[in-house]
Formats: sequence, structure tokens, C-alpha cells
Amino acid sequence: MTQRIGLLGGTFDPIHIGHLRAALEVAEQFALDELRLIPSARPPHRGTPQVSAQARLDMVRLAVADVPPLSVDDRELWRDRPSWTIDTLESLRAELGAEVQLLLLVGWDAFCGLPTWHRWQELLDHCHILVLQRPDAGSEAPDALRNLLAARSVADPKALKGPAGQIAFVWQMPLAISATQVRERLGSGRSIRFLVPDAVLAYIHAHGLYRAAPSTQE
Ligand code: ATP
Repeated sequence: MTQRIGLLGGTFDPIHIGHLRAALEVAEQFALDELRLIPSARPPHRGTPQVSAQARLDMVRLAVADVPPLSVDDRELWRDRPSWTIDTLESLRAELGAEVQLLLLVGWDAFCGLPTWHRWQELLDHCHILVLQRPDAGSEAPDALRNLLAARSVADPKALKGPAGQIAFVWQMPLAISATQVRERLGSGRSIRFLVPDAVLAYIHAHGLYRAAPSTQE
């Protein structure tokens, strides 16, 4: 049978249980052979991550160790230019071949910004897009995406056919947790127990990550 691989990019600064539950639920729902978490080096659409690429990668590795089918793909971290998704897809295709079904997981907000992505019109040549939609989100797709949605979306995500080319929606109620919230808690000395896996918590403490910067007014 053709392999089916999910892809979830992010800064993972740090990875938390919101990422992990969402990834695992999609992996189960779509019977994925593998779901790769892909930490980005220099995300084109946001600020510099607070800790090094290596530390973010280490934490994702710890989080998915022994949690099949979740895995880590570090190809974006060692590129000397922004982490464009189109580059990642091209390199995955070159490596995995034309037959594998690739499902790119994208949150609804990120999907609405798709027309700003580098070479966005080529993305569907390489993958299907699985839009993670929240049941409580109400916004409409931007005009630039209307035609694309009319031409490419399928009502039943299970009906995605072939290696690439379609858009489907998955409805999930995400856990109300963000990396920003985790960083803020750490910065103010509060606990993040149960918001990240224990191994990630131990790593953060062992390396003194995300602690408040020392005051400059002493
Ligand atoms: P930050 O707070 O720093 O913006 P984040 O928690 O949103 O970070 P990212 O690394 O930006 O984390 O997210 C990677 C991917 O995971 C994105 O597609 C994002 O929408 C998704 N994601 C983040 N938090 C959750 C969550 N709680 N539930 C489901 N998906 C999530």
C-alpha cells in the first residue's frame, strides 16, 4: 500500500502537549505511517526563536521518542536561508519518490496566510493540505483562496486521493496551550509541569532555558 506521511512544521520553542496531542490525533485519524515534526530554523513569518535550533530539536526528539508514528525531521534546521515550506516539500519528494501521499498539516490561521508563502501556488503539486480547523473559529477564507478552495477542497478528508493536490479540513478542539504561554510561565518562575512532556521539562531545567533575563538596572 502507498505510504501516507503527515508533516507538521513549527518553531517548537518549546514543543508542548498541544502540538503532540494534535499530531497524534491526526496520525490516528488518518492511519498515517509516519507524522514528521519539522522544526524550522528561521521562520519567514515570525521573530527569532528564543533558544537555539539544536535545543529546540533536542526537545522535539525527547518528546517523540517512543511515540510512533511521530518522528522528527531536521532538514530545515541546517539550511542557510529561511525555512520555506516549498523547499522542504521538494526535498522530501526527491527523497521519498512521487508515489508517497504527503499531508501538510496547517492551522486555519496559517492557511489563511497561504498567499504570502514563498511559491505558494506550487505547494499542492507536492502535497495535500490538511487544514486543522477549530470548531469555534468563525472567520471566512480570504478572497485569494476562494478559487483554490472551490477547485481543490474535498468534503471528506478520508477521500483524499493520490500523492498530492487536494485540500481537506479536520475539526479538532485544540488544547488551550501555546509555546508563548510556556515561555512566559518559565520567565516568571512558574511551573510548566504537565504542559510539556517530563523529558522536555527536565531538559529545560538542566539547560536553564527560558529563564528571565537578569535585570540590567542593578
Ligand atoms: P508560539 O506561542 O511561540 O507562537 P505555538 O505554540 O503556536 O508557538 P508553533 O511552533 O508556532 O507553536 O506551532 C507549530 C504548529 O502547531 C502550528 O501549526 C500551530 O498552529 C500548531 N499548534 C500550536 N499550538 C497548538 C495547540 N495547542 N493545539 C493544536 N495545534 C497547535
